[in-house]
Amino acid sequence: MARVYNFSAGPAVLPEEVLRQAASEMLDYRGCGMSVMEMSHRSAAFKGIIEEAEADLRELLGVPESYRVLFLQGGATLQFAAIPMNLMRPRPDGSSGTADYIVSGSWSKKAFKEAKLYGEARCAASSEDGGFSYVPDADSLDLSPDADYVYICQNETIYGTRYPKLPDTGNVPLVSDASSMFLSEPMDVSRYGLIYGGAQKNIGPAGVTIVVVRDDLVRDDVLPFTPTIMRYKTQADAGSLSNTPPAWGIYVCGLVFKWLKERGGLAAARERNEEKARVLYDYLDQSKLFKGTARKEDRSLMNVPFVTGSDELDARFVAEAKAAGLESLKGHRSVGGMRASIYNAMPREGVEALVRFMERFEAENR
Ligand SMILES: *Cc1c(COP(=O)(O)O)cnc(C)c1O
Repeated sequence: MARVYNFSAGPAVLPEEVLRQAASEMLDYRGCGMSVMEMSHRSAAFKGIIEEAEADLRELLGVPESYRVLFLQGGATLQFAAIPMNLMRPRPDGSSGTADYIVSGSWSKKAFKEAKLYGEARCAASSEDGGFSYVPDADSLDLSPDADYVYICQNETIYGTRYPKLPDTGNVPLVSDASSMFLSEPMDVSRYGLIYGGAQKNIGPAGVTIVVVRDDLVRDDVLPFTPTIMRYKTQADAGSLSNTPPAWGIYVCGLVFKWLKERGGLAAARERNEEKARVLYDYLDQSKLFKGTARKEDRSLMNVPFVTGSDELDARFVAEAKAAGLESLKGHRSVGGMRASIYNAMPREGVEALVRFMERFEAENR
């Protein structure tokens, strides 16, 4: 058995130590005589798993007491609808709630489009005219002070950008889709009203979505047609156990939280991630063949898109890299080119192997 270096954007690489532990506990979870997949989500064993996962996540991310942590299903995409349904407040005169969306790529564009189904979503800034190669300037946004929230996608998985600086939204809650950067670096949770992410990018298997939401945004007076299961209040009151949760996925996320804690928490994770990104960007910046596609100031530490300028050469690169054990380097189907996702679990050696391969490919194809 040989494991490859997996640069997939998601589902993505998980720490080998975590996979080994999950494998060793597969048939008999700590004397229960069954796997986590098979046990009741109401059992004492599972209660221990979800409570410990939440406690570890709170410790890692420094989640204040005044925030709820929810383990949900439906992917990040379901949150595109759940956020306006839960956070938009109809006005006393009967008009709909409002929200400001900053559109910095495909994911925020989708979220914006979805929000318009439920209320008045406004585009406060967009970088679409620049091919989403940059993040709109946080200091020159057209924000309305009476919006119910301001929405950003903090790390753009497809275009490889991230906010170098958060917008100042005053008293308006900031909502962040952090799917592809969740737990890759420390975040000051108190600056947000809500942070959410699908687990399959950086923290676990597909099927778990984590929502960290401030207490005052967990309310009964949501838009009236909001399905019961999509109300944050429902899941907050039930400790994420209103219905059957993605139990095995939560367990693996919990193992990843422990893995991160053992390695010095999020500040240490950021250091490792900055170092890995530097190895790749330093090479890209001097390469005569490959070119990074995101603006330098806004480049992501997690997702690194690049091109050669020739579709034919790009395709050959992806195929030859795969043959060399460097997997899933093809860019998103909407943009083409290449993309290396270098999440927490990608070791530095993987990035170094990629750079060595790129150097060789460049020498052979100039
Ligand atoms: C992958 C991704 C999504 C969509 O996640 P699903 O879990 O597939 O719904 C949303 N936002 C960002 C930033 C992503 O990277």
